[in-house]
Amino acid sequence: MKCPYCSAPDTKVLDSRNLEEGSQIRRRRKCEACQKRFTTFETIELSMPQVIKRDGRREPYIKDKIKRGIEKACEKRPIPAAQKERILSNIEKAILDISDKEIQSIEIGNLVMMYLRHLDPVAYIRFAAVYRKFQDVDEFVNELKHDETKQFKINATQNKDDTSEY
Ligand SMILES: [Zn+2]
Repeated sequence: MKCPYCSAPDTKVLDSRNLEEGSQIRRRRKCEACQKRFTTFETIELSMPQVIKRDGRREPYIKDKIKRGIEKACEKRPIPAAQKERILSNIEKAILDISDKEIQSIEIGNLVMMYLRHLDPVAYIRFAAVYRKFQDVDEFVNELKHDETKQFKINATQNKDDTSEY
């Protein structure tokens, strides 16, 4: 890897470490020319399927949309970032188990609901309340942008007694 300081082509790896249960590798490198040190991260890039929208349009899978959906559902809940990362990666694995070519957006939403249900009841209810209406993760995120979270607190309270049925 090229040195970010002097652009010398040769850098030496001093140390490699597995992060995130082996899905990421961190390497400390040293430039042979200027002796400066820097860090690189290697992550696995999965090739995700195309997403089929409800109207039949295809669009590329965008990890960030799912991530925003999870973030929004978990807002102000005592859920560690690492746990949200983990369910995101589990959702992606589950998507790939269904298909690496094409997947219905509704199937992705169902997976998000399933994982949120195990994570946190309020996050699950927030997501499910809107998702059931729109059947689309993007629209869930948009809806939350427009409405205040107040509304979802009300929904969460109203539905509290129903959680057992899920
Ligand atoms: Zn250098």
